[in-house]
Amino acid sequence: MRRVAIVGAGPSGLYAAGQLATQTDVEVAVDIYDRLPTPFGLLRYGVAPDHESVKSVAKTLAAAFDSPHVRYFGLVEVGTQVRPAQLLECYDAVIYAYGSENDRKLGIPGETELDGSRSAREFVSWYSGHPDAHAQDLDTVRNAVVVGVGNVAVDVTRILLKDPEELSVTDMPESVLAELRRTHVENVWLVGRRGPENASFTNKELRELLELDGVDTELVGADLTAIEVDLLDRKARSNVESIAAAIAEPKQGKRHLHLVFNHRPVAIKGVEGVTGVEFESNLDGSHFEVPADLVLRSIGYFGNPLPGVPFADGRIPNLEGRVTEEDGSSRPGEYVTGWIKRGPSGLIGANRKDSAETVAHLVADLQQMPQRVLADPEELMVERGIKASSLADWRRIDEAEIARGDLRGRERTKIEAWHDLLDLVFAEQEEAVS
Ligand SMILES: Cc1cc2nc3c(=O)[nH]c(=O)nc-3n(C[C@H](O)[C@H](O)[C@H](O)COP(=O)(O)OP(=O)(O)OC[C@H]3O[C@@H](n4cnc5c(N)ncnc54)[C@H](O)[C@@H]3O)c2cc1C
Repeated sequence: MRRVAIVGAGPSGLYAAGQLATQTDVEVAVDIYDRLPTPFGLLRYGVAPDHESVKSVAKTLAAAFDSPHVRYFGLVEVGTQVRPAQLLECYDAVIYAYGSENDRKLGIPGETELDGSRSAREFVSWYSGHPDAHAQDLDTVRNAVVVGVGNVAVDVTRILLKDPEELSVTDMPESVLAELRRTHVENVWLVGRRGPENASFTNKELRELLELDGVDTELVGADLTAIEVDLLDRKARSNVESIAAAIAEPKQGKRHLHLVFNHRPVAIKGVEGVTGVEFESNLDGSHFEVPADLVLRSIGYFGNPLPGVPFADGRIPNLEGRVTEEDGSSRPGEYVTGWIKRGPSGLIGANRKDSAETVAHLVADLQQMPQRVLADPEELMVERGIKASSLADWRRIDEAEIARGDLRGRERTKIEAWHDLLDLVFAEQEEAVS
């Protein structure tokens, strides 16, 4: 039986595992490595908690674990604890599926040094209960600026403006809900460099934001009547029409959404903490400033390199999923899928097709690949002093979260603290030893 390692248990890694487990051309055993004891990647730690229907994809993805030939090694960070070259000694092939866990910077004064200026990614990780996320101190935030006009920017704006009671039915950790209940956000400026017809948010996400109870919408920097809607594609036309409808019917709300187009931030102001943001018009070069206690940049995620693996522009260079060297030749045994393959964009479904392409090439290559004597990955872990978590450990976390949710009449309440997750993992392992 051939052996394949997958690095990353997000949607792309789990689609690849499921596809490998169900194909019939080559017998394959699959080990999935993730640095977390919890699978699902950004489905769990990115997709907004109030988008419950998207979250249900987890059931489809978890089908990969039904195969007796698929194992889960959580709490293993490839790159730091285990090098890719060591995995290649244990497996016929390795698929990199570790997503894009970094983010792009604006490169403007104040961005990195002022308290209250951070990436939307950090904010998303926090409200999603990622164990690495830092607590957010939101009780003093009245005014927030969100830079970027994609769906992630819309998600974080919605979470800031939505009534926390409406979020209390979701899987958000209790600590997050408690912090959101302490907020008094009055204004959010959502800022894009170009016009509303060029914004990348989808119409469904935009309407959800514009329809929030008690939130007024103001339009800044764009004249909708000057846009020739008939020349626009469907998404852009619906977006312009939705904004026009929202500003035509003010809600007299206590909270305000300011949609700013054709502007870019040029400086984040403040001494220790953020106090304001200065913008420049991309149309006439004029400037204006707004007060702000929080700035979230949402201008794109970015991949991290792994030691010894080719890397360029935030991705692993590849030809249809086969990892390539600078000269275009492919690296035997190394494959890639998902965001780290094609860049940080695309919905969950896009990863299914992406993984199918990679898996098809891998299966074809495995049929030609000479048999090697492979090292034992479990011995490698012992050598490296790694105590990996298993699928059974994840199932215990899953049950504990469902039980926590049950107490509050919800489907699930996430466990966000490392020590609680590790207690659940190691309590059982210690019991097995004694
Ligand atoms: C904020 C946000 C909201 C989104 N909302 C939606 C939505 O509503 N609907 C939708 O369809 N799509 C949405 N998406 C897109 C969707 O989440 C992605 O398409 C998908 O998660 C990408 O899958 P992936 O497997 O490539 O990466 P990821 O989901 O990022 O998974 C990568 C996995 O690799 C692990 N990992 C990382 N580094 C290492 C390492 N060194 N060693 C071991 N493991 C590692 C991580 O822990 C993670 O589990 C959203 C994305 C974001 C960022």
